[in-house]
Formats: sequence, C-alpha cells, structure tokens
Amino acid sequence: MGSLADFHTHSTFSDGRLTPTQLIDLAYRNGVRIMSLTDHDIVDGLPEAFTAAARYPDFTLVPGIEMSTDVPGGEVHILGHFIDWEDRDFRARLSQLQESRLGRARKMVERLQDLGKPVTWARVEAFAGEGAVGRPHIALALVEAGHVANVNEAFDLYLSRNGPAYVEREHLTPEEVVDLLHSVGGFATLAHPREFDAPGGIEPLLERLTKAGLTGMEVYYQDYSPDQVQPLLSLANRFGLIPLGGSDYHGLGGPRQREPGDIPLIMEPVERLLDLAKRNGVLTRAKGPAAVR
Ligand code: AMP
Ligand code: ZN
Ligand code: FE
Ligand code: FE
Repeated sequence: MGSLADFHTHSTFSDGRLTPTQLIDLAYRNGVRIMSLTDHDIVDGLPEAFTAAARYPDFTLVPGIEMSTDVPGGEVHILGHFIDWEDRDFRARLSQLQESRLGRARKMVERLQDLGKPVTWARVEAFAGEGAVGRPHIALALVEAGHVANVNEAFDLYLSRNGPAYVEREHLTPEEVVDLLHSVGGFATLAHPREFDAPGGIEPLLERLTKAGLTGMEVYYQDYSPDQVQPLLSLANRFGLIPLGGSDYHGLGGPRQREPGDIPLIMEPVERLLDLAKRNGVLTRAKGPAAVR
C-alpha cells in the first residue's frame, strides 16, 4: 500500500539513480500524490521535476533540498521544503558547495589509490553525471572495479565516516543551514534522526535546532520500526516539531531501500506543514492541487 506523501527523495541530480521524471513516474505509480524532491545540496533537478509533475493533474510537487551539516562527532542532514530555489544568492552558495564536493571526491579517489583500491575519476564523474557528486558515486565505481560486492560494502570498508578513504566536506553547522533555508523562505526538517549517534544523543541537538527555528523532524523513515517511531514521535511533540518523513529513495538497492510511497506518512502533519506554508505565503511555490487551497 502506497502512501500519499513522500517528503524525502533523490534523483540523478545528486546520488539517486532515477531522473526526476522517472522518479515522479515511479512515485505516481506507487500512489504518491504529494512529493518533494530533496537532492543533496543542489536544486538543479527541480525544473525537470516540475515539468514531469505537471503531467499528472492530481500530483503536487514541493521544491526541496537536503543539506549536510556537521557537529562534533557526527553528521546532521537537514531537509528544506518550500524553498525559493531560484534565489540567486542561494544558488551561488550551492555552487560553492558543489565545488567543495568535487575537491573532496577527488581526494577520496586519491586515498583509494593509496589503499590499493583504485577507481578512475572518469568513472566517478560518469556515475555522478551532471549532478552533485557524492560518496555513493565513488561506491558505484568501487563496485564496478570489483573491489567490493555492493554499495553498502563500499561504505562499510572505505567510505563511511570512520572509513580509511573518508574525506570531510566543507563544514557547515546546522544553524547555518537552517538560517540559509530561512533566507529563502523554506522550512527546515531534521532528516533521519536515528542515524545521529554523536555523544550526548539527540536531545541537545533538538534543543539547538529548535532554537534556530527548526520546523519538523523525520519520524517515519525507511526501516524505522514502530518501537523506534514512537519515541521519535514523543520527541517531536515535546519540541513542537511537525513529524514528517519519507523514503529517502535513491534507487541504489540494498536492504534498507524503500520506494517512494512505501513509508506510510500520516496526513495530519503534512496538512500542518501545508497550512504553515499557506500562512507564510510560500504554498504556491509547490505546484499541483495541494498548492492552491
Ligand atoms: P555524501 O553526501 O557524499 O557525504 O554522501 C552521503 C550519502 O551517502 C548519503 O545520503 C547516503 O545516500 C549514502 N550513504 C551514507 N552512508 C551509507 C551507507 N553506510 N551505505 C550506503 N549508503 C550510504
Ligand atoms: Zn544520498
Ligand atoms: Fe540524508
Ligand atoms: Fe537523503
């Protein structure tokens, strides 16, 4: 049974395997009727996504992004929804982040060479295509070169945060990213909170982020089980955050992959986000029936 809403998906413009058009076709087939495209640090997939979405009169697309931030000992991903993705300053900042991703990916390729697991930069570039380059593209090159069996193994052996080929990205704090998203009228949502395992746990982070103006938190996500969802839901309520979620679909396979629509999002919180967007005058940045209420 597909759900109606999915607020977290990736396309070929970052590290997803489907083009925005293929992604929306799949989501639609699965029963999704309101979706956000949230590529990593890039909005270049949105024009195609809006064109693809317009072919379905009962489908609403919300412009989005997922941004990586760093805190001591951990990485925090923040989703932005209803962003003014055409804003020039915003796009200039994203271009800088693309540059930094490129430099960092090249360094990781050098590390792999030193580790005796060479991949060519040309193959990494080919996997990345025109979009934001990320570790999954290097992982695909490692699989292709026969150094690992699959993408998960590439992360486990080389590319994870503590892995021997890992190189840090440009550091952004979560507050900087929340401010950046607010500067283009977007709402910030903490992504996949279970994955956050820095010392001190999640509560100090939520305190920090709600102070910065966080709007939501992903509560429904991939393989989160009901007994993991419940405490997250309590936390969201305690901190006044809208409990959102999504599939984080990349199309890379693996045991945790869920397709768009596989994560049963409760519609009440989605309605809360839409109402908030309406009050803030940004609802019409989405396109489709849910954007004209
Ligand atoms: P990057 O943005 O280059 O730091 O890469 C981060 C992306 O790598 C995440 O959004 C996931 O798609 C993917 N990723 C991170 N850890 C893993 C893992 N252990 N297995 C598979 N994919 C992962
Ligand atoms: Zn990703
Ligand atoms: Fe993420
Ligand atoms: Fe994601």
